[in-house]
Amino acid sequence: MATFDILVKGGTLPDGTVKDIGITGGLIAAMGDLTGSDAGEVIDAAGDLVSPPFVDPHFHMDATLSYGTPRINASGTLLEGIALWGELKQQATVDEMVDRALAYCDWAVSMGLLAVRSHVDTCDDTLKGVEAMLQVREAVKPYLDLQLVAFPQDGFYRDPTAKANTLRALDMGVDIVGGIPHFERTMADGAASVRELCEIAADRGLLVDLHCDETDDPHSRHIESLAYETQRLGLQGRVAGSHLTSMHSMDNYYVSKLLPLIAEAEIAAIPNPLINITLQGRHDSYPKRRGLTRVKEMQAQGITVGWGQDCVRDPWYSLGTADMLDVAFMGLHVAQMTSPAEMQRCFTMVTEENAKIMHLTGYGLAPGNTASLVVLDAGSAIEALRLRPDRLCVISKGKVVSRQARNDARLTLAGRPGSVRRRHKISEG
Ligand SMILES: [Zn+2]
Repeated sequence: MATFDILVKGGTLPDGTVKDIGITGGLIAAMGDLTGSDAGEVIDAAGDLVSPPFVDPHFHMDATLSYGTPRINASGTLLEGIALWGELKQQATVDEMVDRALAYCDWAVSMGLLAVRSHVDTCDDTLKGVEAMLQVREAVKPYLDLQLVAFPQDGFYRDPTAKANTLRALDMGVDIVGGIPHFERTMADGAASVRELCEIAADRGLLVDLHCDETDDPHSRHIESLAYETQRLGLQGRVAGSHLTSMHSMDNYYVSKLLPLIAEAEIAAIPNPLINITLQGRHDSYPKRRGLTRVKEMQAQGITVGWGQDCVRDPWYSLGTADMLDVAFMGLHVAQMTSPAEMQRCFTMVTEENAKIMHLTGYGLAPGNTASLVVLDAGSAIEALRLRPDRLCVISKGKVVSRQARNDARLTLAGRPGSVRRRHKISEG
């Protein structure tokens, strides 16, 4: 008879199979029918969804939970957000940034979000944000995997000290090379920044994740340079393009040439549906563009696409709760991914596909992997998207890190049931 530290009993996995999960020493020790096993702690997940943890491949933890400081974004545009952040980052202190980020990580853990890739602004000679986020990365390491991207927010060339500061940030231990080619002064500067940033990554053996073409301008084609440089430098599988919103507005013939280039370079795409639908199209009258990149079309070419969250309560976005199901829900709607297979795909985009983009090791529900998982008050992955339900239990690296009581609504209607959960059992074929 096997003995585990923790036994999660009877949960339904995202693929629809029902399995017990035995956890020992921080790893998944066994899966299947583990009836008769002993455990220090048994978690009854019968009828509930047991998922690998949520993963967010695009976030800004240095700015999170700062909404309204120094004031709100009146125009709702990306550019006003960048200007506001420029003021805020002058005032912010290391301690205050650490406090905000740690508070956000608490939210994330409660939502079963246990891996986050955060860009950190390197356009500040003091590199306060970098110092703060390195502290946070260390502090949350026991329960949350935080990857940091050196992000020259004001332009690698456009800001006079960005290049030196970005290199310093990488020297200090920031993990990944970032950039913002569409914010440089000219298209030529943007392309040159892509080239130099990819060379820095190749030299240092680092991954690349650029904010790329986050604009409604169909002529913003830095993704083409990114695909070219990725090939030239042999960085296939190590590069991500975040946003890629200009692709929404590009000429169809050009896109038919572009997508195979992205696929060939094995570049992953990270659209951020909550933010893209909010910030893009602000200069349009009607019809108004959605500003989301071409998700289904990229997937049809074999390109890995993951949903990112980008912002929670910051100069660009006033809402957000660290719930990757909210992100997937918005993405599902805006990209019209409404068939059962597409909805299921939206769930894997905020779990397995994001884990792949972040090169996480030991991720996923399989024996030998890290024992990190989430128990959700839903019967399936698709139902989880519909309900965005409570996370009943979150386990990170073999330890229970969050619990929430099942919270059914109580009805007081004569002749009707006393409580309601909004679960709906139908075939999702
Ligand atoms: Zn971003």
